[in-house]
Amino acid sequence: MTAEDAAVGTVAERTARPDFMSMTPEELEAFVVSLGEKPYRAGQLFSWMAKGAPLDEMTNLSAPFRKKLAEYGEYRLPVIEKKLVSRIDGTVKYLFSLADGECVESVFMRYEHGTSLCVSSQAGCAMGCKFCASTLNGRVRNLTASEILGQAAAAARDTGERVDGIVLMGIGEPLDNYDNVIRFLRLVSDSRGMGIGLRHISLSTCGLAPRIRDLAGEGLPVTLSVSLHAPDDETRSALMPVNRRYNVAELLSACRFYFEKTGRRVSFEYTLIAGRNDSREDAGRLAAVLKDGMRCPCHVNLILLNEVAETGLSTPDRRRAEEFRRELEKRGINATIRRRLGSDINASCGQLRLQKLAEKDAGGVSERPVC
Ligand code: SAH
Repeated sequence: MTAEDAAVGTVAERTARPDFMSMTPEELEAFVVSLGEKPYRAGQLFSWMAKGAPLDEMTNLSAPFRKKLAEYGEYRLPVIEKKLVSRIDGTVKYLFSLADGECVESVFMRYEHGTSLCVSSQAGCAMGCKFCASTLNGRVRNLTASEILGQAAAAARDTGERVDGIVLMGIGEPLDNYDNVIRFLRLVSDSRGMGIGLRHISLSTCGLAPRIRDLAGEGLPVTLSVSLHAPDDETRSALMPVNRRYNVAELLSACRFYFEKTGRRVSFEYTLIAGRNDSREDAGRLAAVLKDGMRCPCHVNLILLNEVAETGLSTPDRRRAEEFRRELEKRGINATIRRRLGSDINASCGQLRLQKLAEKDAGGVSERPVC
């Protein structure tokens, strides 16, 4: 952990009581035994937490045990501050508040093949991408594993539906909160809890190359999604400051390593921004750099920029995106234009949190300390 990471320390690091929703079943066993309970109670508790149940609903645990859990432990599920439901496709967007009043967003989506939840990994983001709403006010802190898991548990409980897949594509850079995200992946995929298959989980990163290599060695075969957004260093550095630390060549080399180590095809996100990265030449250069740099199966997801007023950037029209896709395909690169779910509720992440922050700055309705 760097000094900077320590400075943004998580709630669990700042509170003395153990955050037991962040514990693995084995760790939980030691914890319940320390409270004078039988080890098998850990399994019951773990499965209740995966359902987002409050302590008083855990009826197969004795009342004195639940009292001890409340007294000696920390168990705070995210609270729904705001919920928007799309009239077009039923997508649900949540603004959750956390124990210290920080707010994060999650989006519940329904597809033909199942449901998927987009979760946040940090309150704010330090990466500074020029088009993104989540980073406008910087990073406030990392989320704990339980705060990430809690978004999934709370969404499953609220919708009454199973969450089949997870995308770590909400607010924050997951690989900038590495240890908590790895812990979350182990917890959410554990069959004693939510049991979401790792193959149904995607992790999206702006390109922290050394962390991509670390992830490849964790034995967690998640789909890696890399936010590329430009085919060359000059364009990419102008849009994404992280490129000055790890350039396109270094990033693609880490992606190739990930594929070689895990056998999982890497996918690339490419947000089309009018006049910045959306020309036919850009498409040609993107195809060349992927063929040259990856030399293994990959897929490009084209995203039409979701305009954020503060950034001054605009989105190209659909025709431009279609031309860009055809240009890639012509050069042998698979690409799809991502369908936008929940367009009527502004389902892309970062904007609700921003609105809340603005309300607070204007002395608005929120009585909470941060959001
Ligand atoms: N930090 C991670 C995950 C969060 S963002 C990452 O960078 O990948 C999820 C995706 O949405 C990323 O590809 C990001 O670049 C993209 N994105 C962010 N703001 C956007 C916007 N205004 N319009 C379209 N895509 C955006």
